Order: sequence, then structure tokens, then C-alpha cells
Amino acid sequence: MSATQLTSITVPEALAYILGHFAPLPPEPTALLAASGRVLAEDITADGDVPPFANSAMDGYAVRAADTAGASRATPRPLRVIGNVAAGYVTGASVGPGAALRIMTGAPLPAGADAVIRFEETSEGDAINAGASHATNRPAEDAKATWRNQIADPPPSDPAASPTVLLYNGVQPGDNVRHAGEDMRRGQAVLARGTLIRPYEVALLAAVGRPQVLTHRRPRVVLLSTGDELVDVGAPVGPGQIRNSNSYGLAAQVTAAGGVPLLLGIARDNLAELTTRVEEGLAQAPDLFVTSAGVSVGDYDIVKDVLDREGTMHFWQVRMKPGKPLAFGVVRGVPLLGLPGNPVSSLVSFEQFGRPAILKMLGRTGWARPVLQVRATEAIPNTSGREHYIRAVVTRTATGEYEARSTGEQGSGILTSLTQANAMLIVEETRTLVQPGDMVRAIMLDWPEEVF
Ligand code: AMP
Ligand code: MG
Repeated sequence: MSATQLTSITVPEALAYILGHFAPLPPEPTALLAASGRVLAEDITADGDVPPFANSAMDGYAVRAADTAGASRATPRPLRVIGNVAAGYVTGASVGPGAALRIMTGAPLPAGADAVIRFEETSEGDAINAGASHATNRPAEDAKATWRNQIADPPPSDPAASPTVLLYNGVQPGDNVRHAGEDMRRGQAVLARGTLIRPYEVALLAAVGRPQVLTHRRPRVVLLSTGDELVDVGAPVGPGQIRNSNSYGLAAQVTAAGGVPLLLGIARDNLAELTTRVEEGLAQAPDLFVTSAGVSVGDYDIVKDVLDREGTMHFWQVRMKPGKPLAFGVVRGVPLLGLPGNPVSSLVSFEQFGRPAILKMLGRTGWARPVLQVRATEAIPNTSGREHYIRAVVTRTATGEYEARSTGEQGSGILTSLTQANAMLIVEETRTLVQPGDMVRAIMLDWPEEVF
């Protein structure tokens, strides 16, 4: 296609065409913590039961439930304390009739026991239960003193010397016991490929012994800004010059979406330099090449010429505002997104087209930001004949409704209209006026896309 043939298309048309050029990137082994925020590229099964053994859900006494029948504060039931076991240790003791074993949360349930009674329901809990009438109780204090410094075994050699504990309540078999495999059974499918790895999935992967998992690789995104007027941030700004803000904003957007930005800096508006910089970018083996500026209809908008010569490109006038000019195509196998130069146009266009491409390469299956129905609190005219994105502040009222006001001046060079916004209101191309009180759709810029 010739660079001068500018096709007019809608935002959904452009997005669908662009996304057709992307697929999830190949899987790579990923350290567990680095996998956070990425997408699983393998099915995960439990390597064993979780928990691996029956254990206590409470700090208390492992007992035989039958021994506790009828116990109450009025009719306490005494049991002989035969030992103690802490989490991480295994006791050799077996709980026989009339016996109890002190047990801490997470410790394996000893043989013979089928339930746990909490300290709070025994004489040992009297000190814990502040204000309880049984303020002191010698037998329980003895038990605590006997076992405090022992994590497991040995029980006293003389059973008659065993301290006793009084039970103030009955328990049923299984009470306060966590059964082996109650969370996951050995061999059970627990996470499917395609799952987004959130902190919860990280915990589960650790629980099933996976220090490393297969995830889709993060996309490498080359960023090239073009323009004779641009100087880098930190450099002195001469007459007629402005700072290159697009490279940095776009790089941050790439990172936020889960990609790896590769900044190529600034290319001047001449064919030779631009061609060289495009070569440099391609040498970095990117999964996406993003350029800023030079795709409009001005005299020096030569990005179009270079891309046209080097690849297969479309130059569109997307019916959106801000951000009309947009180039998309493939340069030597690498998809290239040519964004407009105006700062707001460039960032909004990336949000609409670049971010979904990155999410798709990451293996995500949803990329639309949450869209809310909100009430406009002011009149918003749209005479552009395009889909107009109004930078706005969406707030929730006391009644739970959402309402929106624009952030003021909406020019495509007004970066402050974006920094003050948490949403973009969508005013459809056919809708010429939004009245105060009308409902409009709002793209929530800082809300993550839905997972389920
Ligand atoms: P262009 O698309 O080249 O016509 O540029 C449109 C507008 O965006 C001009 O005012 C440029 O100065 C401005 N612009 C282009 N590139 C950048 C950039 N990297 N950072 C900030 N503004 C830019
Ligand atoms: Mg320019």
C-alpha cells in the first residue's frame, strides 16, 4: 500500500487487525517469583497430598473424642497429659484411653487421637481466658511447666507422675483436625495452563514444590522516537526543541503491561538515519517495534516512507480522538506499531493497541480494561466525528453510583489532562453531545483487566 493512501477505520477494526498478528510467546522456565504476573504455560498437578499428614488446626490437646463426652465447666473431665508435640516434629507417643497429648497448630496428630480440644476449653486456658473464674489450676500449670521446653517426647517415664488437664467441653471426632489431602490430593490437577499467576497461585506453586514453572516469555518491545525537534530528558533544550517524553511514557506503559522496553532513543527526520535506527532496533530481536511520530501528513513524516520501503504497512486514520494517524505492519517479520507524535495521542493509542498486543503475547486472554457506566456531571460536545476519549476523573458517590468530570483542556498535547485522569470517557463518533446527567462509558485506566 502506498503511504499516501490513508484508510479510515474504527478502533475495534484496527485492534482486531493488529491482534491478528500476535500469539502467546513460547514458554520458558521461570523462577517462581519471576513468574508472578505471567501466565502458566503448563498444567500443574499436586506432587503429594496437601497437607501431607493429618495435623492440628489449633493449639490444644490431642484426645480421643469419646473421652470428652459430657465434659463441661461444671463437670470437668480430667485427662493424663502424656506428652507434647510442636509443629515440625513427630511424637512417638500414642494417645490411649484417658490420655491427652499437648499439641501445637500444624503438628502431626498422634496415633490414637481423633480430635483436638483447644487450650481455651481446658484448664490450661484459664490463664488465657482473662477473667475466667478458674484463674489458676495447678494440674494444667504443671502440664505447661513439664512440656514447655520440649518440642516432642519423651513422655515422663512414670505415668503416675503425669500431670493432668481438665476438659471443659466435649469434642467430636475430626474436630480441629486438618486431614491429609484436604486441600489438594496427590496427582490432582490444580492449575491449568493459561492461568494468570497471581500471589495466590505463587503460594500454591510453592506448596506443590515448584521452584520453577513454564510461563510465556515477556515480550521485548523496541521503542524509537522520531523528530528533529526532540532532545533527551536531562539535556539542555535549545530553540525550537522539546523534550522526548513519548519514549519514557511508552516504556513505562510497556513495563506496566508486562513487557520489556528497549529504548532506542531518538532518530532524526531523514531517511538515512531512520533506516539505520530501524536496523538497530530489529537487531535487538524484538517481538514488537513501536515508533513515535512521523506517521501523519506533514512534510517530514518520513517514518511512513521508511516503513513502506522496509516492510508491509498499513497507514490508517483511526476514527479516534486523540490519536488519528496510526501505522501498523510487519517489518522483516516483526510487527510494528507506528504511533502518532502528540504525547496524549501516542500514550492513548498505545493503551488501545499496544497494551492488548503485549497482554496477548504474555498469554493473557482478556485485555479490555473494566468499563463502567458513569453519569456525566458536565456537558461534553463531540464534533470530531470520531470516537472521542475524554480524560476524566471518575468518583463514587455516597449512593454507590459512579460519576465523571473531565480533566479540562483535552488537546492532544496536554499531558496534564492525562496525569489528572483515572479514566477515559468514550463518546461514540455518532454522539455529538453528552448532556449533564447522561450516562457514558468510562474506561478505568488504573483498574486491571478482569481475570475470570
Ligand atoms: P508528528 O507526528 O511528527 O507530526 O508530531 C506531532 C507532535 O508531537 C509534534 O508537536 C511533535 O513535536 C510532538 N512529538 C513528536 N515526538 C514526540 C516525543 N517523542 N515526545 C514529545 N512530543 C513529541
Ligand atoms: Mg515530526
